Amino acid sequence: MQVYNAPLRDMRFVLNELHIDDGFGDLPDFEEVTPDLTEAVLEEAAKVCRDVLLPLNRLGDEEGLRVENGSVRTPAGFADAQKLLGEGGWTSLAVSPEWGGQGLPHAVNNLVEEMLCSTNVAYSLCPGLTHGAAKAIEGYATRDLQERYLPGMVSGKWSGTMCLTEAQCGTDLGLLRTAALPVEDGSYRVSGSKIFITWGDHDLTENIIHLVLARLPDAPAGVKGISLFLVPKFLLKEDGTPGEFNNVLIRHVEHKMGIMVSPTCQLDFDKSVGWMVGEPHRGLEAMFKMMNVARVGVGLQGLGIGEAAYQSAAWYAKDRVQGRSVAGVKRPDLPADPIIVHPDVRRMLMIMRANNEGCRALSAWISRAIDAESHAADPAVRERAGDFVALMTPVVKALFTDLGFETANHAVQVYGGHGYIRESGVEQFVRDARIAMLYEGTNGIQALDLVGRKLPAHGGRYLRSLFHPISAFIEANGGEGPLKPLVTALQQAFGALQLATGLIAERGLKDREEGSAAATDYLRLMGLVAMGFCFAKAAKIAVAKVAEGGEDSAFYATKLKTATFYFERVLPQATACFLAIKAGKASMMAFDEGEF
Ligand SMILES: Cc1cc2nc3c(=O)[nH]c(=O)nc-3n(C[C@H](O)[C@H](O)[C@H](O)COP(=O)(O)OP(=O)(O)OC[C@H]3O[C@@H](n4cnc5c(N)ncnc54)[C@H](O)[C@@H]3O)c2cc1C
Repeated sequence: MQVYNAPLRDMRFVLNELHIDDGFGDLPDFEEVTPDLTEAVLEEAAKVCRDVLLPLNRLGDEEGLRVENGSVRTPAGFADAQKLLGEGGWTSLAVSPEWGGQGLPHAVNNLVEEMLCSTNVAYSLCPGLTHGAAKAIEGYATRDLQERYLPGMVSGKWSGTMCLTEAQCGTDLGLLRTAALPVEDGSYRVSGSKIFITWGDHDLTENIIHLVLARLPDAPAGVKGISLFLVPKFLLKEDGTPGEFNNVLIRHVEHKMGIMVSPTCQLDFDKSVGWMVGEPHRGLEAMFKMMNVARVGVGLQGLGIGEAAYQSAAWYAKDRVQGRSVAGVKRPDLPADPIIVHPDVRRMLMIMRANNEGCRALSAWISRAIDAESHAADPAVRERAGDFVALMTPVVKALFTDLGFETANHAVQVYGGHGYIRESGVEQFVRDARIAMLYEGTNGIQALDLVGRKLPAHGGRYLRSLFHPISAFIEANGGEGPLKPLVTALQQAFGALQLATGLIAERGLKDREEGSAAATDYLRLMGLVAMGFCFAKAAKIAVAKVAEGGEDSAFYATKLKTATFYFERVLPQATACFLAIKAGKASMMAFDEGEF
């Protein structure tokens, strides 16, 4: 059974308590966003997700999509959900009120996005991509395009896509062939075939606004010759409503492993009318605006599924009875004890819980930085926040989706053989979670981005945004007391991260393959340390709150137990990552191709 109630208490904790000392401060544009307001938003979002999206999750997975007369049809209920979410403003929480959005911080929006991903990740991609496309249009398109397209997208009446991939061009965008020919009126005719386009066609909205990467006739070869175009499915009439079909043809809808209700389309653009977004040959810059929003969003898919998987597994572990506790019978009234008594089941549940809470805490941190990067009054704070976002975006994308998949797998294991049976509902989590490690740049590519671009940027400046707060915390909290074992473990893992950073910098200068060979382990190491830092801060708050007592002390006592588990049973993986990095590329690259 898929069980989900939004973890509101933990969400409030990461939003209002955990990061108040992060130096980003209160942002002037969000003075009216009080804890009472965010509480109301989160509670209402939790209801919508539980009551509307969760029941559609299994249905969408079972029924999937149909193609009728060249158009994609979603199962009953999805169009109504889209309407309800659009009208309720749920799909535009962090968009500027200028375009009809709610103007709330990403720190709030990303908690709601986590809920959407927990309850219906396949559907969540539609508003998620629309949000990303709207951000790119807001950042790079002309005022005229913004005025014509943003209100429809922000209200949820229209959706957005990102069209990069072609059959011969996946990771390597330099191989892109789609062409854009300029015409006299300033528009372009876009022709080419894109594959794997998420929500590329559907019946949830009146129009679909595609953001398409293509080449101009005089474009230089490679990634430096790519421009970005806005190509609507239906051209707009004089009154701004959708009119004539713009020759965006669906060639094929993929049959795939998961996210069944998300249409993954091959789209053929045939002299479709488009308009340039941003400058000629600099389309990737604008697309990256969208992709960075989307990458954090994809990370949230891992966390969202992980939370639903954990809750479903915890429910089952209390319900299913098998065997007796080795510590003595716990439920003599039953023919056997619930499986939650067994240490191995506890092991899985605790890993799942620690993964989710660690990711949520880190997500709240990067979300605050995203807000500070564009809203802080002090330019120095904006720069530091931007550095943190740049550094941690690949970590959030890859770490959260790797952990989300691991967590979904643990849920199947907790269910035993029943977990492998569709009826249980938990195997869907595994299938749905798997894609997030692949799209928006595979997790291997995220690691290369971290090591190859983010570490050396500005002479290593981005690293300071992570390393300085961790060193300061260790220095301030390393003394005797209840936190000591946790801070010592953090210090060791942080030391390994610093050493690994030095090794990669030194070896990478002589041999670029060394940096690439270390990248995935390094990303995991950095993620483990960043989550460890969040858990250490959480533990510090928890120790004080438990000592105070009060009605909420049970929450803090539980937080302390999760943090302790993290330091004792999860963070030691940092040592394994470090040893793998230290070993270097030799054994990884030792085979001749023929030996494989
Ligand atoms: C369900 C689904 C939805 C998608 N949605 C969209 C969408 O909405 N819009 C869109 O444009 N695309 C979309 N994609 C495409 C997706 O982003 C690509 O599949 C992904 O970027 C990888 O490209 P590829 O599949 O061609 O793999 P390849 O690029 O062929 O990579 C294969 C393997 O080689 C590795 N690799 C490749 N190059 C390097 C390198 N230089 N160094 C190290 N390793 C490397 C990769 O990490 C991977 O493990 C979607 C894909 C799927 C399956």
